Amino acid sequence: MALLVMKFGGSLTADAQQLRRVVQIIHAEWLAWQRVVVVISAMSGATDTLRRAAEFAQQRDVTAYRRLMSGLRADHITLIESLFAAGTLRQHLLQKLDGYLFSVLALCDGVAHSGALLPQQRDAVMAVGERLMASITAALAQQEGLRAALIEAESVIITDNVHQNAHPLRDVIDERAEHILRPLLDKAVVPIVAGFIGATRNGEPTTLGRGGSDLTATLLAAALGADEVWMWTSVDGIMSADPALVPNARVIPSLTYEEIGELAFFGARLLHPGAIEPLIRNNIPLRVRNPHNLDHDGTLVHANPQQGAHRVKAVTAVDGLYLALRDQPFDLITFLGKVREKVGSLAADPVIVMQSYRRATLVFVVPTSEGPQAVLAAARQLKDLLPEWDVQPVKVIAAIGARTDLRPILSKNIRPLASALGANERRLVAVNPADVRDALQQFHSLTESDAVEA
Ligand code: ASP
Ligand code: MG
Repeated sequence: MALLVMKFGGSLTADAQQLRRVVQIIHAEWLAWQRVVVVISAMSGATDTLRRAAEFAQQRDVTAYRRLMSGLRADHITLIESLFAAGTLRQHLLQKLDGYLFSVLALCDGVAHSGALLPQQRDAVMAVGERLMASITAALAQQEGLRAALIEAESVIITDNVHQNAHPLRDVIDERAEHILRPLLDKAVVPIVAGFIGATRNGEPTTLGRGGSDLTATLLAAALGADEVWMWTSVDGIMSADPALVPNARVIPSLTYEEIGELAFFGARLLHPGAIEPLIRNNIPLRVRNPHNLDHDGTLVHANPQQGAHRVKAVTAVDGLYLALRDQPFDLITFLGKVREKVGSLAADPVIVMQSYRRATLVFVVPTSEGPQAVLAAARQLKDLLPEWDVQPVKVIAAIGARTDLRPILSKNIRPLASALGANERRLVAVNPADVRDALQQFHSLTESDAVEA
């Protein structure tokens, strides 16, 4: 019998009306599929609040973290009280809420006392948002008559001990999922699992990195051999560009696993960067859908490249660093070693490398996860390290989906600093950050035409 894994994002669990809709959808899909696994994210903003609370604790700002925690408590109380009438279920959830929040406060008090925040403490604090929301969703599903069971994510999602960005141990997860989730599915019970969180083999809490609920969903889908994964979110699907920069950006109907990986690498904030990998071996399709627009098909992510003409499907921009050297001998290997050593902490990857006699140009991509200041800080470090080089922050624009040459598309006033045809047919152009909006809009026009392979 077919099996569906569904993940609900934080924007869909923010208020009572939204959460009721989530449970209606679970119900409807359970009627259709009979076998459904549900993964729940924290209420939007909750993970950031918890992270900040842990940081205030480290700074010994007791008032600040207490204020944050009381805000979080108030938001969850409002949600619980509007979903559950006075009675045992409501009481049980309120007690659970206070239990979790007291444990966070106790942890923060300990951190404030010692002034040191251990990575596992940060994880224990940040995990609470998902724990709370999974409990509330499971209780609501049960109240609405669904056969649902709350499953502790830590009993299934087993990881290494790289806190904040833990790596899943796939074999153990497969085994646990088979053992814990399969029997429930066989009885048509819906397991409801908190996303984002896991545990080491020793039971220490870990988290999978920001956006980690996506990964929880695809790991469970792979472990159970699901037929599809649906990511429910408050937008209609994956957009052809950032609508804040390109007003006529549209939802992309379909993408391959590779294309979505490229999009994420080049800066589009889509799914957790590791979330596609588990789907590839079993060829499990993923769909992004909006519960408030069920008539829209959303975006389908799958293995098969689309038949027919290749066209540019999306354009994206990511921070990068441009390095150029003129009129000097240059050895790439020594150079990369030197740069890596100095800016090793930065997960920057070289994406454009052009070299000719006594002339070299390199462009590194700096992942969005490094934060907005990372590029400027790295540029400063590199300028000190390489005084003879021209070092500039740039935006690296990637066109995903076709082998079109991008340069002729640009108007005369935009000068590409470097460009390349990368792996997987991606086209890259580095431009001055001031030109990024115009360049993206000009490249985006390619998504509207039938740009065939060059
Ligand atoms: N709540 C976590 C985050 O904000 C995980 C997720 O939403 O997927 O990153
Ligand atoms: Mg997300």
